[in-house]
Amino acid sequence: KLSKRLETVASFVPTGAVVADIGSDHAYLPCYLVHRGVASRAIAGEVVQGPYESAERQVRTEGLADKITVRLANGLAAVTPQDQVDTVTIAGMGGPLIVSILEKHPESLETVTRLILQPNIHAKVIREWALQHGWALIDEVILEEDEKIYEVLVLQRGEMTLTEQEILLGKFLPARKAPAFVKKWTREYDNWKRVYGAIERAEATLENEAKKQELTQYMTWIEGV
Ligand code: SAM
Repeated sequence: KLSKRLETVASFVPTGAVVADIGSDHAYLPCYLVHRGVASRAIAGEVVQGPYESAERQVRTEGLADKITVRLANGLAAVTPQDQVDTVTIAGMGGPLIVSILEKHPESLETVTRLILQPNIHAKVIREWALQHGWALIDEVILEEDEKIYEVLVLQRGEMTLTEQEILLGKFLPARKAPAFVKKWTREYDNWKRVYGAIERAEATLENEAKKQELTQYMTWIEGV
């Protein structure tokens, strides 16, 4: 059985998709997608030998080797235009690593129409990247599993506008106020408040004033939602 986190990622894969799952580890996600008949074919990319071998083993054990290709490669180097991949999933990494993977091989994204990205932290940098690279958010989910909070971002090609607040909190998430959303930002808010207090007790430098202003802005956004 797939984790709730990966099940959420899977739920955004269109039927008939040709999927590349980058950083696939055990290839659980592509196996699930092909088994269920959601993906017609898939590529599981891994940059580390150990996880690459687990992926190979998993695909063979499940008898899916004719539909899932496992490749040892760095990021989107696992994908070539001939693969005709239309959906890319990248899950279980930090936002900055996900963005660096997306930026390194733009040619691998030529045939891709949907990105499903699941950052463990710093979803903000993905929203910033999307805004600057012609991708639009079509949905977002925030969820909690095993005491950890995860975000899933779904992107399609197109233009969007995002305010600074939406870049941080999400485009769809603030209005929905899921329990995980409330928990995450209540925690952040308390943290910012503590940092603010510490800065106030410290020396009044320009840098500290700027940081205080930034924190005030963030706290106002949270109070607003
Ligand atoms: N995607 C799976 C999931 O969400 O459960 C596995 C997540 S695991 C925490 C991250 C995996 O990404 C590791 O197996 C790691 O080797 C792989 N990885 C990290 N950087 C990568 C890169 N540049 N290219 C391919 N795989 C990478």
